[in-house]
Amino acid sequence: MLRLTGENRARASADLSRYIGCDQLVLFVRDSDTGVLIPAPGFPQTLPPGGEWRRFVDACDSEGRSEGPLPSPATGALLPAIGRRVDDGAALVVVGGHVDQEVLESLIELLPLVTAAIQLERRASHEIYSAEAARQAATRAEILASSLYSSQRGLEKALVDAERARARFAFSAEAHALLVSSLEADELLDRLAGLVASSLADLCIIDLSKSEDAQLSTTARAAGSSLPEHLSLLDEYVDSAPRKTAVSEVFQSAEPVLISHVPRCGAEVPAHLTPAQELHATRLADLGGCSAMLVPLRDGSRCLGTLTMISLHPHRRYDEDDLSVACDLALRAGLAVSNSLLYVAAQAGIRAREEFLSIASHELRNPLGALASSLTVVELLLERSSDGTVEALRRPVGIALRQVDRLTKLTENLLDVSRIASGRFDLQLADMDLAASVAELVDGVREEASRTGSEVTLVAPGPVVGRWDRLRIEQVVDNLLSNALKYGGSGPVTVSVAWVGEQARLVVADEGPGISQDALERIFERFERASAAPRPEGLGLGLYICREIVEAHGGSIRAESALGRGSAFEVRLPLIPAPD
Ligand code: ADP
Repeated sequence: MLRLTGENRARASADLSRYIGCDQLVLFVRDSDTGVLIPAPGFPQTLPPGGEWRRFVDACDSEGRSEGPLPSPATGALLPAIGRRVDDGAALVVVGGHVDQEVLESLIELLPLVTAAIQLERRASHEIYSAEAARQAATRAEILASSLYSSQRGLEKALVDAERARARFAFSAEAHALLVSSLEADELLDRLAGLVASSLADLCIIDLSKSEDAQLSTTARAAGSSLPEHLSLLDEYVDSAPRKTAVSEVFQSAEPVLISHVPRCGAEVPAHLTPAQELHATRLADLGGCSAMLVPLRDGSRCLGTLTMISLHPHRRYDEDDLSVACDLALRAGLAVSNSLLYVAAQAGIRAREEFLSIASHELRNPLGALASSLTVVELLLERSSDGTVEALRRPVGIALRQVDRLTKLTENLLDVSRIASGRFDLQLADMDLAASVAELVDGVREEASRTGSEVTLVAPGPVVGRWDRLRIEQVVDNLLSNALKYGGSGPVTVSVAWVGEQARLVVADEGPGISQDALERIFERFERASAAPRPEGLGLGLYICREIVEAHGGSIRAESALGRGSAFEVRLPLIPAPD
């Protein structure tokens, strides 16, 4: 604190040194007789011998500033020093320490007032003026002094405000990083309560309404680390009826409540509190609370719960600025909670869908199997019969059989997708010859190929034996072959199997209309179909399942194609799948 009346100036000089952060400070004023800058009253009058100080102060007077080491007036040790001309009649020299430049600049702006007051006081004491003039000079000095005093108080308050703003900003940044770090609401709120209780408050409680009945339940609570003894009290307080009523009032109204001063026993209760909040304030006082904020946890439109911050220290009284920080935090926390709840709902939806897929495809498979067997029996009976009417039934029965076959494949695909999604996709590894399997499958589709007008050529120079899941690998080959026949525009299809280095390589190539570049990037994903292909007739699952099978073997699958230039699907398999 800086007081300028003569007797206080020595203390003011020590206070100022602390304030600026230097070890010592000397204010110089111009001697009206000699015109030389001399130490002002109240500052050290005897400076270390050797002339360094004189040269330093003269340089400061002529140049406006000087810097360099100076012997300390207290110890004589050489210390870094800064000199600044204040106005024509004064200069300030600060020595040693860690000087806060901003504070120094603000002080230099104020010092002309100080030096003017000192000059007036000096003249008055030298009886240069009449007694009346001296009285006026003293009054003027007092006015200047108090003006400087309030300026300094203002500066101090600005510094405190700046520090609080910095702390709030740092807190907001930390809270923001925390709130986007996870999609788990309970974990997030737990960590958030901990953060609040270690920075903005001593106690933090978060109540959330997760159910449709809008009942609040306490999801997270935390106490500052220096107050563990309050934890037991906190439990009692959290479960108390006045607190519950107060938070549900905030939850219902979505309006924040600020209790800057928790009224002590018998003290007047703030007028803005409702009867429920009044009761709660009494409960807070029992807990030892000094100040509190109850803010709604909102996600923009809905109120999801409440956030309570309690200060147990008289020096931390919440104000409107704190309330707006708390409201902003609660809004961001509300959005994070809302996202988390949506995520949980989406996950539940996905699980329900996978479950449905699994059940539906299982349930479909059995009647389809029975239908296929019955139709096969009817087909056999029809083949043996020579009755004319029966003859007419052969075609529709053949169509029905092919449709049942298609339906069975679709159902199997759905079942595979649900197996993949639930991680139940196991491989039964055994030695197999890929070339022999492919040859069998190619033979199997020749009839269908001749129906569509395609010719299928197999290029397999020798056995390609590896340790794979036969049924699954055959499923891949079958899918690629039937795609080539379905989408290959009735052109020739070439299938080749060979070793390339350490890997088996299977290529199924057709000369059909091909696949556009953008579709090429999607067709291995679930439910993706390329619109350029003629008559896409499946669910867009075949290639997805192929990729899953191949990758489960440690292999890869890719497609090369361009519109109008046919397509080639290449599968590569390692000799033995690498263990997981
Ligand atoms: P689906 O099981 O529905 O046939 P796939 O996953 O096997 O689906 O194939 C995805 C899409 O890729 C198909 O809808 C088709 O548009 C395209 N496609 C696959 N193979 C070929 C091919 N040989 N030529 C042109 N388009 C193809």
